Amino acid sequence: MNLVEELRTRRNLSDEDFLRLLKTDEYDQELFSSAVRLRQKYYGNDVYLRGLIEISSYCKNDCYYCGIRKGNRQAQRYRLSEEEILECARQGYELGFRTFVLQGGEDPWFTDERICGIVSQIKAEHPDCAVTLSLGEKERSSYQAYFDAGADRYLLRHETADPEHYSLLHPAGMSLSARKQCLWDLKEIGYQVGSGFMVGSPWQTLEHLIADIRFLQELEPDMIGIGPYINHRDTPFGGMESGSLDLCLRMLGILRHVFADALIPATTALGTIHPQGRELGLLAGANVVMPNLSPVSVRKKYELYDNKICTGEEAAECRGCLQRRVSSAGFEIVVDRGDRRKEYGL
Ligand code: SAH
Repeated sequence: MNLVEELRTRRNLSDEDFLRLLKTDEYDQELFSSAVRLRQKYYGNDVYLRGLIEISSYCKNDCYYCGIRKGNRQAQRYRLSEEEILECARQGYELGFRTFVLQGGEDPWFTDERICGIVSQIKAEHPDCAVTLSLGEKERSSYQAYFDAGADRYLLRHETADPEHYSLLHPAGMSLSARKQCLWDLKEIGYQVGSGFMVGSPWQTLEHLIADIRFLQELEPDMIGIGPYINHRDTPFGGMESGSLDLCLRMLGILRHVFADALIPATTALGTIHPQGRELGLLAGANVVMPNLSPVSVRKKYELYDNKICTGEEAAECRGCLQRRVSSAGFEIVVDRGDRRKEYGL
């Protein structure tokens, strides 16, 4: 049996075999076509939409890679009002979105009370929709409050599963163990949980990527978001190299095999490093896209990395553009909450 067949059958490989797969482009074509067949088994040609609403560019954290880190004096700060957020969701609903993702920096202005109010209002207006939060590390009691207010899902990438690597990407005071604890809390509370990592972040090795797979195997998340690390000029990593498209696609292909029924987005970062990045992501095993629903007036200010795409278009244009891209890859966007179709609970 060759490597890809073994991965397909066992849904796993030894560290050495993962390394062999990651090291060359030799297996790529077979890996990607097998990944697409697997996603087809669970999801057919369906691609799920998530409407991303970027609620705040204020952040109290100082992650070295991120453009909206506290220490970036050049960053333009904004926060959306409750009414603006609700308006984005209304517009999204009209456009066929059935999941809204509220993402932002860790902005203390958004108290638990405010978040709960917004979540419950969206759920009241759109009871057939899922609300996903991506607001960083919080106390367990806060996660519980959001969940009780109606939040369905939470996205929190672990960023890297190697503690030393984690400490090279984040200032003292942030730790991998704290991040992991948040993920376990979210799971226990009952959220559908998404985690993930950047590919090609500074000092990342292939061994780190294997540690990422191993951690995800432990966590068993419903969603896995990965994308290339992309430089931001006004961060301490300003002069570093961005991650590669090829390695990111290879990781997507592998993740689809190990987590056959998972929700895996073709991310905006992937679309930023290559004009057809998201289409290629779908053809490597991804099954979700996350167009931007934020008001155009703030889009450029939520600048996690340089040259982020889709900052000029209205929501409807983004939706139309992605529709064309998805069908050009042979898939189809569906109007659906897009819950995970669990392997044994189809
Ligand atoms: N404050 C939230 C949301 C962070 S932004 C949180 O802590 O989860 C969402 C994701 O963007 C991050 O988890 C990170 O993986 C990614 N990101 C940040 N800076 C990036 C960069 N320079 N290149 C690529 N991805 C980046």
